[in-house]
Amino acid sequence: MDDKPLDCLVIGGGPAGLTAAIYLARFHLDIMVVDGGKSRAATIPCTHNHAGFPDGITGKDLIQRMKAQAQRYGAKIADGFVSRLHQDEEAGPFEAEWGSGKWLARSVLLATGVTNRRPPMDEALHDDALARGLIRYCPICDGYEVTDKKIGVIGSGGRGVAESLFLRGYTADITLIAPDKAMKVSAADRVALDQAGIKTVDGPAEAVAIAHDSITVDTAEGHFTFDSVYPALGSDVHCQLAEMVGARLGDDGCAGVDAHMRTSVEGVYAAGDLVIGLDQISNAMGQGGIAATTIRNDLAKDRPLLR
Ligand SMILES: Cc1cc2nc3c(=O)[nH]c(=O)nc-3n(C[C@H](O)[C@H](O)[C@H](O)COP(=O)(O)OP(=O)(O)OC[C@H]3O[C@@H](n4cnc5c(N)ncnc54)[C@H](O)[C@@H]3O)c2cc1C
Repeated sequence: MDDKPLDCLVIGGGPAGLTAAIYLARFHLDIMVVDGGKSRAATIPCTHNHAGFPDGITGKDLIQRMKAQAQRYGAKIADGFVSRLHQDEEAGPFEAEWGSGKWLARSVLLATGVTNRRPPMDEALHDDALARGLIRYCPICDGYEVTDKKIGVIGSGGRGVAESLFLRGYTADITLIAPDKAMKVSAADRVALDQAGIKTVDGPAEAVAIAHDSITVDTAEGHFTFDSVYPALGSDVHCQLAEMVGARLGDDGCAGVDAHMRTSVEGVYAAGDLVIGLDQISNAMGQGGIAATTIRNDLAKDRPLLR
């Protein structure tokens, strides 16, 4: 462990954490990013709604460019999964543990993201389908790409209905499939589905095969083949470190922050998918920039930052 605390430890190297790292390093602060290597952005085959890339960019390429940009200004980036975060005494430095190491930091930015719940299917098949756009997780991001295509949505209850209705703005051919049992929707949702011409199918559902440009789902009502399938099963928020350090969470499990990305614990900030379920790169980057600027200004209140 280095005895001199970092100015900021950024936990998570996705768009939120790396944007913050670029800003923080350019503020001449001593910072480190530690990243578990599972950015959702890195799974994007090609994003077409990220401004500035009219021909799209792969998520891996985007992350790589951001890492290089942060490193160019002196940010240290380590691979690792932070398993413990705590503050010894009020106003003391934070201590983070990962792998065999421990680091002290005056401030911490949590940019740990979320994980989408996957539909039951073979893992290799899932990853192949994701890479080919046969499985998709973000209609806001890529609904445009399925315009007028045949789409399956795996989900039930309000979430499945909402995702199907959202996608109805792109295509008329939508089938909502219950993930595990008979389809259950409220009477009002049933009317909305019927009015929109969305078909429903009982589960259990399992994606069983993919071809060059289609994916087949086995259901309680037989096999259905689609151009793409959207699982609408929710996500798990990576809020464990926020909880560990005592930061307040919202009802949705996301980290509660003020308008400047401060959590309820002084010196701990949060940004990106961890904070809001909009799940967009632009939002993650914007919050990363706000958080970094707040961190810089809060650190300067404690000790003027003079060159
Ligand atoms: C298939 C798919 C397609 C998408 N397409 C688009 C698109 O076209 N346009 C768009 O705007 N958005 C898209 N998104 C959403 C976008 O990827 C996310 O909104 C964005 O990645 C959020 O950034 P983040 O930095 O908050 O989290 P992430 O990118 O998920 O990064 C979080 C990082 O934190 C790390 N981490 C978590 N816990 C720890 C820990 N304890 N210690 C160390 N590291 C940790 C993780 O390993 C991960 O690397 C898509 C998402 C998916 C899944």
